[in-house]
Amino acid sequence: MQRNQSRSKIILTKKVNRLDLRKLHSRLLTEDMINVYVGAKCKKFHLHNGLLSDRSDFFRKALGGGFQEQDERAVYLPDEDVGAFELFVRWIYGAPLRAPSDLDSFTRHLALYVMAEKFCMEPLKNLLMDAIRTYYRFNGIRGGPEQMEYVYENTPADSSLRLFLVRAAAYGVVARINQELPKNFLELLKKGGDVAADFTSALLRSSAIRPRTTAPSMELDCAYHEHKSTKSCV
Ligand SMILES: [Zn+2]
Repeated sequence: MQRNQSRSKIILTKKVNRLDLRKLHSRLLTEDMINVYVGAKCKKFHLHNGLLSDRSDFFRKALGGGFQEQDERAVYLPDEDVGAFELFVRWIYGAPLRAPSDLDSFTRHLALYVMAEKFCMEPLKNLLMDAIRTYYRFNGIRGGPEQMEYVYENTPADSSLRLFLVRAAAYGVVARINQELPKNFLELLKKGGDVAADFTSALLRSSAIRPRTTAPSMELDCAYHEHKSTKSCV
C-alpha cells in the first residue's frame, strides 16, 4: 500500500493489483463480454465476463449458475449508484483507489462500499475503509446522521462500516464537549432501531474512555477491516 502525505496525491492500492494486471490480458480479458445496466436509467456498461467473475462471487453466480442473467448475457442493477459503479469498474480494471476529496466523493465511496458488500468483495471493502479513514484524518469527522442512516439501511448488522461511522460520530460529539446532543443526532435517536442503539453504545464508550480515547480514524490500520475470506493484516 502506498500512502503519500499530500492529500491530493493519496493513493491506496495493493501489490496484488499490479500482479493481477499481468494476468488480465491472458486469462480475464477474453472476447466473452457481458452488459451491466445500472441505475434507474439503465446506463449500460460493456464489461469482460472473466474479469467480473474473477473479482466477484456475485457476478460469478449471476453469470454462471443458470440465472436469467446467464441467458441474456446481462445483469440489471437498477438500485445501484452509477457514479459508484463507474468507480468500481475503474478499480477492477486496475486503477488505484483514491481517498475521497470532498463530501460528494465520500458519499460515493460509501455507496461503493455498500456495492462491494453486495458483490462479496472483501478486499475492495477493506481498501475503501482505508480510503474513508484517510479522508477522516485529513478532514475531521465527516459522517453525520444522514450517512449513518444510509449505511445502516444497506449493510448487515456486523458491518465494519457501520461500526466505524457510528464510533467516529460519537467520538466527534464527545470531543466537542457539548452540553447537549446536536439536534440532528437527537432526531436520529428518536427514530430508534439499530443505528440509535449502536450510536448510544458508542457515545457511552467514547465518554467512558475519555480523555485517552483515540479517534477511530487513528486506530490501527486493521481495526475496521473484515477478514472472513482474506488473510488478516496482523
Ligand atoms: Zn486488515
